[in-house]
Amino acid sequence: MDEINVKDEVLSEVVQSLESDQTFQEIVYSISENVNRYLKADGISLLQISADGKKLETVIHTEGINHKVILSNVSVDKFKPAGSELRISYIGEDGKGHCYSISEPDKECEDSGIVTSILNQLGVTTFITAPIHINGIKAMYFVVSHDKGSYECSRERVRFVKDISKLIQSIAQRKVTKNSLLSSYEVLKSILSSIGSGIIVCNRSTGNILFENDVASGCAEIRDSIKESLKDLFASEDMEERINYAVERYNTDSGIWFEIKFSELTWIDGSPVIVCTALDITQKKKNQQKIEYQAHNDFLTGLYNRMKCEGDLRRIIKNTVKQDKKGAVLFIDLDNFKHINDGLGHQYGDILLQQIAAGLQSIPGLRDHCYRMGGDEFVVIVTPENYESLDRITTNIKAMFNKPWYLMETEYFCTMSMGIAVFPDDSRDVHEITRMADVAMYEAKKGGKNGFTYYSDSEQQNTAKRLDIENSMRQAIATDIDEFVVFYQPVVDVITEECASCEALVRWDSKSLGFMAPGDFIPLAEYLGLITSIGDYVLEEACLQCKYWNDNGHPDFRINVNLSVVQLLQKDVVDVVKRTLEKTGVNPSNIVLEITESFAINDMDRVLTIIMGLKELGPKIALDDFGTGYSSLNYIKQLPLDIIKVDKTFIDDIVEDDYAQAFVKLIVDLSKTIGSKIVVEGVEHKEQLDILKELGVDYIQGYYYGKPVPSNEFEEINFRGRNSK
Ligand code: C2E
Ligand code: CA
Repeated sequence: MDEINVKDEVLSEVVQSLESDQTFQEIVYSISENVNRYLKADGISLLQISADGKKLETVIHTEGINHKVILSNVSVDKFKPAGSELRISYIGEDGKGHCYSISEPDKECEDSGIVTSILNQLGVTTFITAPIHINGIKAMYFVVSHDKGSYECSRERVRFVKDISKLIQSIAQRKVTKNSLLSSYEVLKSILSSIGSGIIVCNRSTGNILFENDVASGCAEIRDSIKESLKDLFASEDMEERINYAVERYNTDSGIWFEIKFSELTWIDGSPVIVCTALDITQKKKNQQKIEYQAHNDFLTGLYNRMKCEGDLRRIIKNTVKQDKKGAVLFIDLDNFKHINDGLGHQYGDILLQQIAAGLQSIPGLRDHCYRMGGDEFVVIVTPENYESLDRITTNIKAMFNKPWYLMETEYFCTMSMGIAVFPDDSRDVHEITRMADVAMYEAKKGGKNGFTYYSDSEQQNTAKRLDIENSMRQAIATDIDEFVVFYQPVVDVITEECASCEALVRWDSKSLGFMAPGDFIPLAEYLGLITSIGDYVLEEACLQCKYWNDNGHPDFRINVNLSVVQLLQKDVVDVVKRTLEKTGVNPSNIVLEITESFAINDMDRVLTIIMGLKELGPKIALDDFGTGYSSLNYIKQLPLDIIKVDKTFIDDIVEDDYAQAFVKLIVDLSKTIGSKIVVEGVEHKEQLDILKELGVDYIQGYYYGKPVPSNEFEEINFRGRNSK
């Protein structure tokens, strides 16, 4: 085969290797072997410029045995003569080194002295060097070298070297591009897979999935959540807006929460894609829920708190208005809680609050709408769905408090007062409606224990009045205690019709507010804790009055003084009474202390201790308002009572009410067995008196015999005609 044919054959084989899947080295090696069939040089090498740009390293080398040794780690500087284009360097017949550029073959381009030394150092006689550029940077040299004698650098051979170097360059460029693509894809893949989130990449316009990381492909829930989110995204009209926003998605099957994020990116192949990531945020959600729970719940009772109440109420009112329906806010305040808590200790109080909370929640329709607002205040929201059952709900709540609570194996009574405001009728503002229910609650409190009141406009004025009363009361107690005046109402012996004693009843003759009956300020005084000061004052006044009457002709005359539950639960109640008795010098046995039934039916041991302590000082003990509370007769039997006062409510209808008559008869019989006397309150008519006389009642107190009046009037009315000793 002649030289030309060989050249053509070699070239066509080299061109074919362009498509080869072999590695770059493998391809170039076979090219080198092939080309040398035509070039017939001692060595063909591909030298690569090292990463630091200083050395040349052999990528491949064929033929001549010495070259590899010689050409490895050659300084790049030594190839300077080769410049940036194809050069021929050789030792001429004159023994000197020459160098020509292929573009200017007639012009020697380097100082021959340097070239000589380089060629000698490298141990070659002839060098054809062609630089190979990759991505525009000179990266390798294709080198044809000869070390045995002269080598014919014909025009064909030089062109051939040039062609081959261009071919190698294009193969290298192609491989590098492909490799960098591949490696960037690999790197991306490994980055995306090492992220904890599930990731799916899809084409921005077609939605076709281009990539799924291991987290997404390995977990059906994650993959499904992402796919559903992508589906939603592609179906939405505001796709642009939704991209770059995170959404939370709950997978009901697995109970896992995901945070789904979309972002736009140009993919490795240059196409616009959407990257959708799904991060498992279940734990974060749980923590969030825990924090929310703590922020929205009352830790003692487990009920929701005020903050949650306001949020819920706002939402419920809004929906109620939208549906054109009605709902209600019930504001509940316990009546005697302060007494239980202060008197018996917080552990009792806490248990009671927990029992009340559980009780409220167990009422149908209220489970998720009971709130503890703080202290002993509760709020219940009656949603529009339950509004029709409002009556049933209030009845249920009332019934709950009609029964005793069991605290530490002891029975306690603790009632409530409830105010009701209806939305949106009364107001649609959260704070306003709550305040209205609160105002109504206070009205309920005034009406007696365990009651409820609906809010009405007139109560608006009452609130202002209440504030007024509070300020004036504080002022009076601090500086003008004599604004409080004690009136006396006779208690008359049924048989002798003599006024044997009287009850001291306070009035408030306020400079700023005018004359007030106890019903108008005593509940507030109890609520504000001011009753103790007023009560102590009344006790002292009554003792002084009693001593005065005793010393002035009525030595056995007795005065009854009311003691509020709040006073009775003061730790020093016995001491206070003792001091007052001593200070006034009254005969203690002429003083009767009235305790209300609601006090007596609390913790029996405690009540007994207090009563015994008081009794030891000399006064008698009367049980007031009997019949209004919930005490059983057996319970009453255990108390050392001198007097039982039957409440007015039994007397109002006694003439025609058989039950009331039977009840009074029962009390009369009971009083005989326990050695106490019976006083009946609120007797206004002769008919009532006659029946009570028949039933064996001992004493009567009521308008029939006289209203409460100031001491001088009392004296005039009741002691006139009596013998003054
Ligand atoms: P209470 O202890 O049940 O006193 C009896 C109340 O019934 C008195 O009302 C008296 O005026 C009234 N009353 C007596 N007989 C009749 C009658 O025939 N018809 C009618 N309609 N009412 C009659 P008052 O004076 O308004 O006192 C109301 C309540 O205020 C008392 O009820 C008592 O719980 C309390 N209170 C009065 N003074 C004091 C006090 O100094 N300390 C304390 N802690 N509470 C007091
Ligand atoms: Ca009384």
